[in-house]
Amino acid sequence: MSSSLLIKNATVISVDDTIGIQMNSDILVQDGLIKDIGPNLISRHNGEVFDATDCIVSPGFVDTHHHMWQQLIRGVTTDWSLANYLDNIRNIYGSLYTPDDVYTANHFAALDLINNGITTVIDHCHILNSSKHTDAAIKGLKDAGIRGTWCYGFYRNPGRSDLPGFDPDITTPAGFDHQARRQDAKRAREEHFPENNPEKQLLTFGGAPTEAEGMTEEALRDEIDFFRSIGARVVTMHVAIGNYAASSFTDSELDLIKNTGSGISATPETELQMGMGHPIAFRAAEVGCHVGLGIDITSNQSNDMLALMRLLLQAERGKRHRENPGTVPIDIQPKSEEALYMATMGGAKSIGLDHIIGSITPGKRADLVITRCDDMNVVPVTKPVGALMYNAHVGNIDTVLINGKIVKKDGKVVGVDWPKLREDVRTRTARMLDIAAKAPPPSEDSWTRLLVDP
Ligand SMILES: [Zn+2]
Repeated sequence: MSSSLLIKNATVISVDDTIGIQMNSDILVQDGLIKDIGPNLISRHNGEVFDATDCIVSPGFVDTHHHMWQQLIRGVTTDWSLANYLDNIRNIYGSLYTPDDVYTANHFAALDLINNGITTVIDHCHILNSSKHTDAAIKGLKDAGIRGTWCYGFYRNPGRSDLPGFDPDITTPAGFDHQARRQDAKRAREEHFPENNPEKQLLTFGGAPTEAEGMTEEALRDEIDFFRSIGARVVTMHVAIGNYAASSFTDSELDLIKNTGSGISATPETELQMGMGHPIAFRAAEVGCHVGLGIDITSNQSNDMLALMRLLLQAERGKRHRENPGTVPIDIQPKSEEALYMATMGGAKSIGLDHIIGSITPGKRADLVITRCDDMNVVPVTKPVGALMYNAHVGNIDTVLINGKIVKKDGKVVGVDWPKLREDVRTRTARMLDIAAKAPPPSEDSWTRLLVDP
């Protein structure tokens, strides 16, 4: 049976060069695809209609790097350095999750991303303390109906059998070593992603090596080869972090990334807070790399892509002003459109999905965000991209479509029993905070060891 939706009278920010920004335009969605864009499509349509008067329609946002499991410990790292983060998140919280905690975290995180107009995510999942954790993490994303690639994380949380109040057999069972993880990754790929084809399914399988900068080149190559051998759609890893490199890609490294067609997921908020140097995004884009944006950790930042774009843009503008003291620029760079590109098309390119998503282009999948612009914080709209990036917030995001299906409607994520989920989240979080509070303080250099597989 064919399904059809006409979004009419919208301001369309297509992020497609040939289509551009269109006022009073219609978008025809049919069987999950964007069929047509233009004025007055209504005359030859007899399906469902969405009146998008006073609305901006933009492509669904693409979050290219996210540890979804941290949704349950929202806010705990907001004043932490990288050392504090590694000491507490990797050494404590990562060892406290039960498989059910992982399910709730991933499910809730995906729903909250959808709420924020993020329709595609790369989940770098390094909470896999047993094969039950693996199954729970995948199910959480699948049940939420988000598009993306779930990446099997080899990083091994150390386990904290010294802490009272939880059962290490459930949270971090012994024996789940690197070899067991390889077998489990292969099993997960075969069991949950038999086709692993992004044209046919929303969620696909990828790999995340242990920690690129904490292992030998040989070991890293071996892990990448392994993921390729089991058909990982993407392989993603942390690079240029902390005291290892301070966001310090050399020019030749950026050239290599560009020439191999690899993508960079820039995570400006983490980079700024945790001492990783100036955000890499625009420098990498200028040399021609595919650059997308990543939320990274909800233990610290919000899932708000609009805020992330603005933060990145203004940090970059600030840097360029500082580099030219005593001058008043006639033209400021970069432009808002460039940050929006990274959050949509650039992200899609960097994860190899730009033939499917990333712009409002006929033939692509209908992942769309409809933002109402009739509230006090948005009126009047003089520049559509500016209104979206500088004025709108999650509360203005009225409707979200993934694959043509409405997943947020009238400002609410569809099919969620929020009071029940909220209670579940609070209970799980309270249990973990309680256990973590009993942990002894870490030694001064303990965090340096945590980038390496223990
Ligand atoms: Zn990360």
